Amino acid sequence: MIKTERILHLKSCRGRKVRVVREHYLRERVPCYSGMCQAGCANDGKVLPGDLTHYVVPDVGVVVDYLEILEFREMQGIIFTQTACQAVQHSKGRRQSNRLRNLLKEPRHDCVLFANEFQQYSFCPREKGESQEKWQTRCVYSAAVWYYNHLAGMMDIVMITDDQEAVDQYSSLSSGVYVITVRDYLQNFWPDLQAAHELYASVSQVLQEKESEGKEGEYGEHLPPEVLEAGIKSGRYIQGTLNVSKHRAQTEAFVMMEGFSNKSSDIGCRVLVHGDKSRNRAVHGDVVVMELLPKSEWRGKVTALSEGQGAEKSGEDESKPLPTGRVVGILQRNWRDYVVTFPPREGPQSQSRNSQRILAVPWDYRIPKIRISTQQADALQDHRVVVRIDSWESSSLYPNGHSVRVLGRAGELETEVQTILIENSIHVPPFSDAQLREMPVNSPEKPWKVDPAQVAARRDLRESHLIFSIDPKGCEDVDDTLSVRSLAGGKTLELGVHIADVTHFVKEGSITDLEARTRATTYYLADRRYDMLPAVLSGDLCSLLGGVDRYAMSVMWELDAHTLAVNQVWYGRTIIRSSYQLHYELAQALLNGEQAEVPELARLGSERKDDRLAELTQALETLTHIARQLRAQRDQGGALELEGVEVRAQLDEEKNITALVPRQPLEVHETVAECMIYANHWVARKIQETFPHQALLRHHPPPRQEFFSQLLESARARGFTIDTITNKALANSLDRAVDPEDPLVNRLLRMMTTQAMSEALYFSTGSQSLDQFYHYGLALDRYTHFTSPIRRYADIVVHRLLTAAIAAEGEGAPGKGLASNKELEEMSRHINSKNRAAKRAQKLSTELFQCLFFKDRDPQTDLRCLADAVIYSIRDDGVLVFVSEYGVKGPVYLKNREGQVVTFGQDGSCEWQSGSVRRYPDHISTTSACNTSTFRLFNHITVRISVYSSHCHADRLNLEVISNKPYRSTEAQQPRSEGRCQLVQEVVRLAEEASQQAQEKAARGPKLSREERKFCQSKTPNLYSLLEEVRELALMDPEMIPQVCATEE
Ligand SMILES: [Zn+2]
Repeated sequence: MIKTERILHLKSCRGRKVRVVREHYLRERVPCYSGMCQAGCANDGKVLPGDLTHYVVPDVGVVVDYLEILEFREMQGIIFTQTACQAVQHSKGRRQSNRLRNLLKEPRHDCVLFANEFQQYSFCPREKGESQEKWQTRCVYSAAVWYYNHLAGMMDIVMITDDQEAVDQYSSLSSGVYVITVRDYLQNFWPDLQAAHELYASVSQVLQEKESEGKEGEYGEHLPPEVLEAGIKSGRYIQGTLNVSKHRAQTEAFVMMEGFSNKSSDIGCRVLVHGDKSRNRAVHGDVVVMELLPKSEWRGKVTALSEGQGAEKSGEDESKPLPTGRVVGILQRNWRDYVVTFPPREGPQSQSRNSQRILAVPWDYRIPKIRISTQQADALQDHRVVVRIDSWESSSLYPNGHSVRVLGRAGELETEVQTILIENSIHVPPFSDAQLREMPVNSPEKPWKVDPAQVAARRDLRESHLIFSIDPKGCEDVDDTLSVRSLAGGKTLELGVHIADVTHFVKEGSITDLEARTRATTYYLADRRYDMLPAVLSGDLCSLLGGVDRYAMSVMWELDAHTLAVNQVWYGRTIIRSSYQLHYELAQALLNGEQAEVPELARLGSERKDDRLAELTQALETLTHIARQLRAQRDQGGALELEGVEVRAQLDEEKNITALVPRQPLEVHETVAECMIYANHWVARKIQETFPHQALLRHHPPPRQEFFSQLLESARARGFTIDTITNKALANSLDRAVDPEDPLVNRLLRMMTTQAMSEALYFSTGSQSLDQFYHYGLALDRYTHFTSPIRRYADIVVHRLLTAAIAAEGEGAPGKGLASNKELEEMSRHINSKNRAAKRAQKLSTELFQCLFFKDRDPQTDLRCLADAVIYSIRDDGVLVFVSEYGVKGPVYLKNREGQVVTFGQDGSCEWQSGSVRRYPDHISTTSACNTSTFRLFNHITVRISVYSSHCHADRLNLEVISNKPYRSTEAQQPRSEGRCQLVQEVVRLAEEASQQAQEKAARGPKLSREERKFCQSKTPNLYSLLEEVRELALMDPEMIPQVCATEE
């Protein structure tokens, strides 16, 4: 090892330059992390493959300014030098250098770090008078040359730079290393990676423009970090996350305080930030530091009805002044990718050289306009574009950013769906080749076979147990199966739940595992889905299909035949062969003793058939018997849970779409659900008992009583009393709150109940006390997710925990090598947030379809735009209604901006006249010169639905009252309940037509917008099966999804 000195010129945090001398040790052996290495480097960890055409070594400037381009997964064989990484740290700060560090850690990205300054032969000391930049470039070049020699000239090395001088200087040295500009590199090596070219153009544009910034201060300067820190410590400042109001994004934002102990009773847990000057360049989601304003400057929240407000939870006094503050500094920027729309060209925008500076409008109302420099302003008008914010100086009214890629023309289905995904940070690229290489093969030429070693290691249930699945019709991914049999001459019963053994195929830390963890769930949108696992697993080897051998994770209980007390539980890996793949209707028909054809038995002779049928029916009956008792036990043991109610509500919902899915609420649904709940509960017990501080469970906190106020008020309006003291009382009183005249009343009350519920969440057992484990909805002391590992990552984690728990049986110290409590808690947060994103995307895509459905209809002439609506909430200047036919919720204004109010004559005719509105707890009245009209909770009215088109944001439905009487269709007995299914169908058809037209048009001439279909992984949507799959999500009113409960099975 050689010792030298290294001189560093650092900038102190106050901007002073400091000269530091450090001892620097040089080694002969520094790992190269190349698969081509002949020198026997200690290359542990990520290694660059040897089968590439070249390795690429980016210069310092490239890593600092164009890291985003290097982040493309397509780019392979990237060598980051230590020199470049240090430069990023010094010039770009923590955010950027964390990104680089993550990139280096990411196994799915093909790049490594070379410690060039420690390598004896690649290190070059800085020469006297040599500028920092020149020296860094020389270091990187020297590293590139080192690689070329180290790999014995067997791999081409390309150094990329944005410095033309460096190209001139180094490319002429014949060292075997190519030195070219980034632009040349992309054009020559990645001619088809259009997205990278666009991004390059956009970033280099920003770099060129950077100097020409104004100096005048629009905003106050942020305080330096040490002042902020001291201020937070002393209690002078408050720290929290900025949350911009969706409905009044310009003026209203709140700061949610983190870990705030309620010392001063004046301050709740949030502080109002009024106006953009007070917001001081903080963007929605940033962690900010606030100063409270004097009480005299506190303000209240606005309470009038504003569009789309129906979803908000009410429950606080809205009129009283709130603690109000202003932002004095920003601790952490939480900028993400934003979708913006380029404005249509109206008059000249500011122009410099060839480029234009455009104020692009983000799709999300809460994000400020972003200034983009671009040469494509004309081509991109009316397009949706993904952008990133680069900076927001105090001298600038708006943040500056650059475009990343073009999604397509606003208003087109694909563009809008991609927008929804990006806005929810859902990244679902096609599964990579590297990932698919990890997958087992199952093809006609190479059929997958059971491994004899696995047979030996697993309990074999293929001969001993009658196993079957019950799913919706046409279900491809069967992740759960059941078995039941009588033992000990009828004294005991054995119930078995057998779940696809996904973790056998998905090894922890594999690329498939990482991708599944990143996604965390399968995403269901109104017309498509994005799977968490590749199809060979989700639809084939992990799908417990009938008649084939499959690996499973099983839970088997030995129950007392009379009391159903659990004598014994067995958990373990099994091998199964499902005998019957039943669907709900068929199973119910067998239970009801109806004539039914079981496809698996079709070929048997009648005697054998009868025997087998009797055996199957017997099993189904036993199962039903067990499920009924288990349910009853849960009811007694801890009060009737809401879940059962929600399942029934869900089934109500099913009834509503019978036009397409002819299914009645069947007991067998609940039977299957009950068995899954039981398995989840027992697995939760097992992993929690084995790993008290590091098990992944799911809890459902009790609701906050104040959220029930709307429910109580609304119920009271109809003479019902809702008791919210316990879940049992709540469920019982909801059961009683039925208006025989109007089934919608009960549905709406349940909808409000669901809305008042807290969210069920995953957590790590080490981070909560035992009394926090309770699942309110299911009334269980412990619960987790075990039964759907194909579509939920939480279940994969739980399968691994269960495997470890089984292995730990009889051992002393369980939990070694498992994720720690902290890691598990981090994982829970990630999965919870992805689940939220999935739900939001689901809801937005449903709304998108609703809007697309109504967009091309003339509301004045098309009868389908008229619908019955029921009032479920009263607001200051209008009401909130629910249109059950289309599952739409929204505001109906009774007073317009001109101060006119809507009134009705005796005949129901509607008129807008100047007048006033008066609000009461259970009704609202409008009064004009000649008339008074009253609207009560649960009244049915007729509304006209039209689309409020928004150029830059999502379109919205507009509901307008046209009669205070219920709507009666003029066409008698029109099958109105088909509405929502037709809706999806028709929108898909129109979109397909449109895309076909676009393609024809494209064939005739060049087109502007490129179809970005690459994200779509699902096959052509088969509406029937899709609707089945998303039954619990898409077809229900998105607000009403009993998220807490119905998805719990
Ligand atoms: Zn090597």
